[in-house]
Amino acid sequence: MLLQLILATGNENKVREVNEILADDFAGAPIRVRSMKSVGISSDPEENGTDFEENALIKARAAAALLPPAADETARAEWMRAQGMDPADALVVISDDSGLVIDALGGAPGIQSARYLGRDVGYDVKMAHILEELRGLPQEQRSARFVAAIAAVLPDGSGLAVRGTMEGRISKEPRGEGGFGYDPILFLPEYGLTSAELSPEEKNAISHRGKGMRLMLKTLRERLAL
Ligand code: IMP
Repeated sequence: MLLQLILATGNENKVREVNEILADDFAGAPIRVRSMKSVGISSDPEENGTDFEENALIKARAAAALLPPAADETARAEWMRAQGMDPADALVVISDDSGLVIDALGGAPGIQSARYLGRDVGYDVKMAHILEELRGLPQEQRSARFVAAIAAVLPDGSGLAVRGTMEGRISKEPRGEGGFGYDPILFLPEYGLTSAELSPEEKNAISHRGKGMRLMLKTLRERLAL
């Protein structure tokens, strides 16, 4: 019996990231992951939750609702066979929601991270605005972290969410060319680098999403005895 994960995201990079985590930290585990697209579903619900966990669950539940319901065993089994799965496999939909939380800004941009100042506004502008807001603040008041909630909808329809964080502080200037989003302004004191100065492998090993995803995989294996 396998744990068949469907990742409720339109972002194929996230599927690649989970596959890397599986290869590095869950070698030999009975886990497979695929995207919504690869099983022929697509959903993009309104993320109107009040925290990361709620938004991640909204996305996972919206995608799970597009699968044949577990209660209709025949339809579910037929659908799973058509996807090359064994109907005895545990089918779980997972999703994530993440963002940058800055203590001095009362947690902003938080769950609004992608939409902060407007979805079409570039990260150079979003970051410049944050640096301006924090101008003159001493190091100890610049604490911030990336947060990722990973949610799952289990075969019995129940929901579950876990969280991973990457702690740091907002730098005085953007630094580094790697990563995406707010990476250039989250300085990681332990490494003496911003998140944008880490290699993808280094970032995966310590990132909020990496930590959250590893915790979710571990939790699912325990819950489903796999
Ligand atoms: P979502 O979780 O895909 O809805 O996006 C969350 C938003 O948070 C992204 O668009 C980025 O702005 C920000 N974010 C989340 N994780 C990271 C990260 O690892 N580096 C930089 N920005 C991030």
